Amino acid sequence: MTQHYDLIAIGGGSGGLSVAERAARYGKKCAVIEKGPLGGTCVNVGCVPKKVMWFGASIAHTLEEAAGYGFSLSAVDFDWAHLKRVRDEYVQGINDWYHTYLADSGISEIVGTARFVDARTVEVAGERYSADHIVIAPGGEPTLPDTEGAQLGITSDGFFSLETLPKRVAVVGSGYIAVELAGMLNALGSDVTMLLRREHLLRNFDAMLRESLMEEMLGDGIDILARTQVRRVVRESDDCLSIECENGQRLEGFDVLIWAIGRRPLTAGLELGAAGVETDAHGYITTDKFQQTNVSGIYAIGDVTGQAQLTPVAIAAGRRLSDRLFGGMDERHLPYSNIPTVVFSHPPIGTVGLTESEARATHGEAVKIYQTRFTAMYNAFTERQQKTAMKLVTVGAQEKVVGCHIIGPGADEMLQGFAVAIRMGATKQDLDDTVAIHPTSSEELVTMR
Ligand code: FAD
Ligand code: NDP
Repeated sequence: MTQHYDLIAIGGGSGGLSVAERAARYGKKCAVIEKGPLGGTCVNVGCVPKKVMWFGASIAHTLEEAAGYGFSLSAVDFDWAHLKRVRDEYVQGINDWYHTYLADSGISEIVGTARFVDARTVEVAGERYSADHIVIAPGGEPTLPDTEGAQLGITSDGFFSLETLPKRVAVVGSGYIAVELAGMLNALGSDVTMLLRREHLLRNFDAMLRESLMEEMLGDGIDILARTQVRRVVRESDDCLSIECENGQRLEGFDVLIWAIGRRPLTAGLELGAAGVETDAHGYITTDKFQQTNVSGIYAIGDVTGQAQLTPVAIAAGRRLSDRLFGGMDERHLPYSNIPTVVFSHPPIGTVGLTESEARATHGEAVKIYQTRFTAMYNAFTERQQKTAMKLVTVGAQEKVVGCHIIGPGADEMLQGFAVAIRMGATKQDLDDTVAIHPTSSEELVTMR
């Protein structure tokens, strides 16, 4: 017999768990269907294990810098296997916690792969489940290129399975994952080469951020090859790959190649056609601003919609959808503008709002830029030098702040509060009227001339 729910979420990741949890708080009967470990990409092969590795990499840098503060450290050993073990245990702890959390919230956990039977019914392992509201939140998966030998490489998923620190790594790509993994591996001791098919890292970010990051990564010893496309990957021996490039260059001696060239929506197998749900040309599910698909009663949230593929975005979209459906908040939805984001590069980047070029394209002469570049006090005594750079993008006579871009130590923790101010419509004068916190790097954001 088909079991009926008020709401079913397909996918037990950031989005699916959040929409079900909020709906359950409104007293609704909910189920989450998950084919893998609970927590989805973020918990298992994304934000969480990535941030653990980033902390490890940051410690490696701090150890290098300690001499400047009078510490003499002899022979520092790094045990990759230890870090991987404690990281995996930490992730397992979160997985376990989610099972309890679902049970405590009165949400049914259905294990297996969901496929649509019709617009109200899904099937999992031969059992049918129906709901008044079905939320599609299956996330995405990393892509491999259509290149000869591509299977010899790994993706970010494979990175988290590595049992040893690679000696020599090629990272192909120029987005979030490429710069984060390249930075971490370099800091932890790998010899890293990045292959960019175009000119820049983080092409869609503000020019100041991508230029500063390129400089910092080169300064840290990462070899960055721009305009270099992979033509073929060849296995030379058990632990040695070589890469032939379109420009005729041949790169040799890599034990690991990581593809970090984007992700695609995980809709294969869902049989969206059985429910009549439409996707765009790239397979992403299209929705209106209320996360509503083209089929009444079916919604999509998170990475599968192709918009701002970030955990807090999937969570916010899910919670607001339940507020709207069950909490009487008819207009509640997530606006996809002014979403703050951090790239956990070395040093990190924090960015929110319009880039300078986006602002100029829309507001022309009304744009005024404030920027600064300096060496943080911390680096006054360290051999390893890092620059901090900040940019405020303002518009109009009121100088409303429409963009804030920061690269430098601490940028990851600096941005959140400024994102609140920008969301509330802060002007440059509001920032100037805020008393600075001294001595910090972030005080520069309220003292820029
Ligand atoms: P997911 O979290 O991917 O969850 C989808 C779930 O659905 C999965 O568990 C999957 O197994 C399940 N599923 C799929 N199909 C089916 C089916 N047919 N039946 C049943 N279950 C199914 N974001 C940040 O904000 N900060 C970060 O620092 C950050 N770092 C990242 C690092 C990496 C390496 C990666 C890959 C991503 C990172 N992200 C980060 C992005 C973040 O992980 C995603 O935006 C977020 O997980 C999306 O949530 P979601 O609910 O849409 O999908
Ligand atoms: P991104 O979309 O960030 O970057 C992928 C980049 O790879 C593209 O921009 C493109 O750059 C390049 N590329 C595409 N195809 C090829 C190819 N065939 N050969 C070489 N380069 C190619 O994807 P990621 O996989 O890095 O990350 C996916 C998403 O996950 C991110 O967009 C982000 O939303 C999320 N994420 C968030 C993190 C965070 O919040 N800190 C961390 C990690 C991921 P170009 O066109 O310039 O060549």
